[in-house]
Amino acid sequence: MSLRIKAKYPYIMTINGCPHDRTQGDNYGQTCVDCGQVLGGYGFWGEGRKTCLHRFVSSHDPKYVECLYCQKTIDADKLD
Ligand SMILES: [Zn+2]
Ligand SMILES: [Zn+2]
Repeated sequence: MSLRIKAKYPYIMTINGCPHDRTQGDNYGQTCVDCGQVLGGYGFWGEGRKTCLHRFVSSHDPKYVECLYCQKTIDADKLD
């Protein structure tokens, strides 16, 4: 089963101008190796942030999308 990434990355290419080419991620989140910015979830190893930077993907129910990292669900409509 593959997850379809629906959310865009509005926070990529922000603040420091780093393109975030190299990232590392796990179940907790994703972090840029070069600049250390958290790109998703709580950051790699869950050490980057106290609150989840949600990344919503398709869930089993097409009406809802689910955060890859904290499993929060919202209406799929709300992504647009
Ligand atoms: Zn970066
Ligand atoms: Zn989340």
